[in-house]
Amino acid sequence: MSEHSIGTRCVQGGYRPGNGEPRQVPIIQSTTFKYDTSEDMGRLFDLEASGYFYTRLQNPTNDTVAAKIAELEGGTAAMLTSSGQAANFFALFNICECGSHIVASSSIYGGTFNLIDVTMAKMGVDVTFVSPDASEDELNAAFKENTRAMFGETIANPALTVLDIEKFARVAHAHGVPLIVDNTFPTPVNCRPFEWGADIVTHSTTKYMDGHGAAVGGAIVDSGKFDWMAHADKFPGLCTPDESYHGITYAEKFGQGGAFITKCTAQLMRDFGCIQSPQNAFLLNLGLESLHVRMPRHVENGQAVAEFLESDPRVTHVSYPGLKSDKYYEIARKYLPNGGCGVVSFELEGGREAAEKFMKNLKVIAIETHVADARSCALNPATSTHRQLTDEQLVAAGVPAGLIRVSCGLEDKADLIADISQALETL
Ligand SMILES: *Cc1c(COP(=O)(O)O)cnc(C)c1O
Repeated sequence: MSEHSIGTRCVQGGYRPGNGEPRQVPIIQSTTFKYDTSEDMGRLFDLEASGYFYTRLQNPTNDTVAAKIAELEGGTAAMLTSSGQAANFFALFNICECGSHIVASSSIYGGTFNLIDVTMAKMGVDVTFVSPDASEDELNAAFKENTRAMFGETIANPALTVLDIEKFARVAHAHGVPLIVDNTFPTPVNCRPFEWGADIVTHSTTKYMDGHGAAVGGAIVDSGKFDWMAHADKFPGLCTPDESYHGITYAEKFGQGGAFITKCTAQLMRDFGCIQSPQNAFLLNLGLESLHVRMPRHVENGQAVAEFLESDPRVTHVSYPGLKSDKYYEIARKYLPNGGCGVVSFELEGGREAAEKFMKNLKVIAIETHVADARSCALNPATSTHRQLTDEQLVAAGVPAGLIRVSCGLEDKADLIADISQALETL
């Protein structure tokens, strides 16, 4: 399927039914799977055979949908998780442990910032946050002998900074560690980070991939390009025997293309159990079938709303990488030639107070802690998703207190602009 264009992969990737089999991906709503002999099952537990035994670790519906996402990103293997949070935690914790260090862009989703900065710190994993605009020298300086991963978001939620993936990948690789990129906002329709040197891609499938506000979920995709064995001293979990699986060495047994996802499934999914329900994987797949049709409309609406906001004197600043005035316009043209996403952020004259009044008066656009839905929505991050951050951290994350984030859905752009216009009139 990878020889086909992205649109065909969206519609048909991952699932190839045989003669007389269901055309739509079957929902395997079963916690467990039956075997004829204990030996048959034993081979699964030894990772000697592939198959299913318990849905806490793996489920056929999930794997079918994950295979589609792997094809979309151009990766070798993928898995679904219960949420985007679980995907980012698993992707990092699969190669980090107590005593490890991460270099992460400071311009990332608030939940991920908190995961790395607070929760993973409690596990003994240390972090250095760097500006997404840092020079190569500044990025190099953030690395330590115990650094195990570099992390960033293609288009940051909600700051809308665009990651220079090639630069970040070059620096990560110079230090012998993989670059993990959260590609939630552009989706593989608008950017495929592996083509620019990223090693692992994560997603909150809750956003555009589902696209209908129906199912929380996440995904992890491996490019198969990172040579773990060449840096075996850094990644003992992949490159030395796993005693909980009878001494299997993942990087040897499953190779560069399969080791990361197999270990993540066999250890982290087994022990943490953050599996996506097969029902949600089915809903996610329905969203994926139209992703390539929806993304251009989200971009069209985002661009129109951003241009309208920029022309209004009551708006002091608009961030949208598709605007010529945007700091990330040139870099977006490189990585996102077909546009990025439908999310626009802006600040009003009058800061936090004006933001509250504006939001209250929106009629078509709803106030929601969500983005990337078919229905347009808006949020003031400082009072919601980012409320755990201090004022300094808010500025570092690119979300000052008066910032409003609008996620342009699939409605007619004229109606969105009319709604924003009437709300601006009330200020
Ligand atoms: C929403 C989001 C997450 C977290 O995903 P959930 O599915 O809500 O757990 C992670 N990264 C980005 C960029 C997001 O937008």
